[in-house]
Amino acid sequence: MENLKKGSEVILKNGEKATVVRTIGNGGQGVVYEVLYRNKPYALKWYRREYLKNIDQKEFYGNLCDNQAAGAPSDNFLWPLEVSGYTENSFGYLMPLRPKEYSDFSSILNAKKRFASIRVQIAAANNICKAFQSLHSQGYSYQDINNGNFFIDVNTGAILICDNDNVAPCGTWMGMAGKDRYMAPEIVLRKKHAGMESDLYSLAVVLFMIFFVAHPLEGRAVHSCPCLTAQYMRYFYAEHPVFVYDPVEASNRPVAGIDNNVIRLWNCYPKSLRALFERTFTKGLFEEGYRVRENEWIDCFNELDNLLVTCPLCGGEQFYSFTNDGAIDFVCEDCKKRIRKPFLLQGKRSKKVLYPGAVLKYSDISYTDDESICGVVVESHKRPGLWGLRIREDIKWEAKYSNGVIKKEGKVIPLFRDTELTIQDQNMKILI
Ligand SMILES: [Zn+2]
Repeated sequence: MENLKKGSEVILKNGEKATVVRTIGNGGQGVVYEVLYRNKPYALKWYRREYLKNIDQKEFYGNLCDNQAAGAPSDNFLWPLEVSGYTENSFGYLMPLRPKEYSDFSSILNAKKRFASIRVQIAAANNICKAFQSLHSQGYSYQDINNGNFFIDVNTGAILICDNDNVAPCGTWMGMAGKDRYMAPEIVLRKKHAGMESDLYSLAVVLFMIFFVAHPLEGRAVHSCPCLTAQYMRYFYAEHPVFVYDPVEASNRPVAGIDNNVIRLWNCYPKSLRALFERTFTKGLFEEGYRVRENEWIDCFNELDNLLVTCPLCGGEQFYSFTNDGAIDFVCEDCKKRIRKPFLLQGKRSKKVLYPGAVLKYSDISYTDDESICGVVVESHKRPGLWGLRIREDIKWEAKYSNGVIKKEGKVIPLFRDTELTIQDQNMKILI
């Protein structure tokens, strides 16, 4: 059985049937169909015979069944829900359909779709890292992270990961090397099989593309190559890869007119983010221990989110600048008008900008993953220019102002610089 016709039935391992409705997509490994199962629509990936001929079919099928039985590491995976019966001709698996609000990652890379905001872009990057963190923490490696594996909701940053059929317990290799331009050097050079460490490399390539819409190793040296033959691909992506912003080696810098995105965007992001990419694509190219783990990315993305300021005049977004020149306002990079500087809340865990509309989560002020909202910054109607934190009613707080006044009751905490603030049992200070 190769191409499945509309109306044909696939018998699943559990004895039930799925009925083919239409073809959704064609790939190198197989065809994806929309099917009806228990009267609900699902996706069915059905492998090509030519693909199966070249791999250990029984091992591949067994791994698929193991993954299905174990269940998805998180809701972000379009994970095998049911597997078909095993035949030597072909087999496949059932997974959830992609909801229509999710776009292909490639449509973002070719600018057909755009993130609604930088905050949403950061959220998408964060969600991708959280999903791979849950996958890796359960002892799996993905082995083939590339631009075709993600669906992203550009309005919310929600993500889904597809093509989970190569996912296998760390140490088990499913025969997949990966995709050109996304594979770690040691995989291209066939020194190792794909695993968790090479996942971290490919993940960093994908994250770089999310932020800079460019490849981290494609600059002048690569562009000047007349034809990227297999030999040159091996040279530029594995034998002699050079990061476009390698602080020492400048031979592969971005080229104006070709790499405008990365040239324009690189310095817009805080140093903390640039430093993680720099580490991954310099020392981390060949020394796996220098590759950035998901928790480091997640901490960095939380910091970025905390330092992002939305202009009240034009909605433009920019990162808070720590240069303390004593000014109470700054020029918006987008509309070029002067806007008031936010307060900076210094907690034990992190810094966060406070300005009308900013949301304070419990995870911002405490070492916890609890992202419940503590309060929202508002501006007084009666006294324009006076900002306060509208605090959740069940939260205990105390504010000690620089003039010695202590306040601990009310729905809104007035915000002034140099205030010592305690929310629940967390101490923090409002700066600038
Ligand atoms: Zn503005």
